Amino acid sequence: MISGRFIPLLLATSSSSRLLGYATAFTPTSLITANSSLPKHINIINQSTKLSNMSSDEVEKAKVAAEEYKNSSGDGAGPDTAFDNILSGKWPSEKVHEDDLALAFRDITPQAPVHILVIPKNRDGLVKLSNAREDQKDILGHLMYVAQMVGKKECPDGFRVVINDGEHGAQSVYHLHLHVLGGRQMKWPPG
Ligand code: AMP
Repeated sequence: MISGRFIPLLLATSSSSRLLGYATAFTPTSLITANSSLPKHINIINQSTKLSNMSSDEVEKAKVAAEEYKNSSGDGAGPDTAFDNILSGKWPSEKVHEDDLALAFRDITPQAPVHILVIPKNRDGLVKLSNAREDQKDILGHLMYVAQMVGKKECPDGFRVVINDGEHGAQSVYHLHLHVLGGRQMKWPPG
């Protein structure tokens, strides 16, 4: 399950994170060998330990990411994240949808048989949902539309859309993303 609390955008149908932090904890060996541009000091040895301690690890990572975001430039733009590397093609990803405004790809540490992230291509200050400006309503609507599109295609029996926001929301990558989760019965309440 996704850990932490969720901002109250949590929908069900019928039915650098620190860039480096994620690379350290979650990058599978195949990804590392497939991409030599990843940092050299990725800690493969600790990977299984960290995966077995996912919940507390996620919360810890969210704290670190929140701190890093607070300490970044001050204009709210936030530091680069793993998603910048995915968008630029520097890092691989398993894309499931792409259009002018949005990219959807599979989460590297899936919490359900289907776990897709939907992100805006242009972050434009959308490091987290609570940073959204009024003039960004269209892109927010578009991301939601893409989420339902990939959700209903991959999870015909229903799915869940989650946005983690900030430290208490256990957000660990400061580039807005919608989690689309499905392929199994979801439970309630979330952690
Ligand atoms: P959150 O905790 O809501 O910020 O979610 C961030 C998500 O991004 C987590 O579910 C991570 O597994 C996922 N993630 C981090 N790095 C990558 C990556 N390189 N490729 C795919 N998913 C990633």
